Amino acid sequence: FIFRLLKAIADYDKIEEKLKEMYEGNNNDTLERKEFLPEFYQSVDYINDISNGFERSIQDRIKSERLKTELITNVSHDLRTPLTSIKGYLGLINEDKYRDEVQLRYYVDIAYQKSKELEVLINDLFELTKVQNNSITLDKIEIDLVELLNQIIFQFGYQFQSEKIKERSFFSEDKLIICADPNKLVRVFQNLINNGIKYGTGEFLDIYAYKKGSYAVVDVVSYGNPIPSVELPYIFDKFYRVEKSRNKNDGGSGLGLAITKSIVTLHGGIINAQSDGEKTIFKVMLPLLDKKIK
Ligand code: ADP
Repeated sequence: FIFRLLKAIADYDKIEEKLKEMYEGNNNDTLERKEFLPEFYQSVDYINDISNGFERSIQDRIKSERLKTELITNVSHDLRTPLTSIKGYLGLINEDKYRDEVQLRYYVDIAYQKSKELEVLINDLFELTKVQNNSITLDKIEIDLVELLNQIIFQFGYQFQSEKIKERSFFSEDKLIICADPNKLVRVFQNLINNGIKYGTGEFLDIYAYKKGSYAVVDVVSYGNPIPSVELPYIFDKFYRVEKSRNKNDGGSGLGLAITKSIVTLHGGIINAQSDGEKTIFKVMLPLLDKKIK
């Protein structure tokens, strides 16, 4: 009995020591259950849980600080690039440094294009911040996904034609009813189709819609210009552009897929990408509306 009592006192001291460490912000080791009397197991577990949670929240805070700094650095860089060229060309015009009317027009045109790029970037950034801060509320309604896709595809008609891309739809007979904010969801598919047109080099753009388990699935498939497998894990990150696209001046902000993913996630859905030598598939899975739950 005396032994147990002494052991209990020692265990209690150890627990107090650990609590003191945590209180002082030194949160290194967890307690080992087997070093304590069974009566203390529950307390040891609670303390370890609190300690782990505490550690996680510190790591989360460090990570979010790092991401914030990275975001600011990237934003500053990406905003400065078009601005530098706008300033440059307007400067030339201001100092009358152009040969003739044709060259003047050319400079004005570049400055105008670059200012449009800047606008896209600022709008995307604003939208991304909104979707990622959860500061938007979704106006969800019951939607037939196939109907929505048909409307979006119809609006892309001109772009398909001018880019000489044939769109092919493969939609299942099932009604794919989901509960979603149509304005936000439209953005998802517009981004994916737009990317397919912009980056695909093939003749076709295929869109599949079907049911899989409790999900409605949409595959947007483009051909050619694969995304290298080492880059694939990063394409949904903010400002990530595949090496080749980074140098190309097509006005992309690298925010499109980050926005797309945030919107899908807000809807309780999943998005992923696969790419091989032949084709690139963006797969969006959205929970089907369960009539029984409603
Ligand atoms: P942005 O188009 O503005 O660069 P996104 O976030 O929409 O940014 O896309 C990130 C990158 O992923 C693009 O720069 C491009 O390199 C790559 N990508 C996206 N969609 C496709 C696609 N369908 N085929 C090949 N590459 C793609």
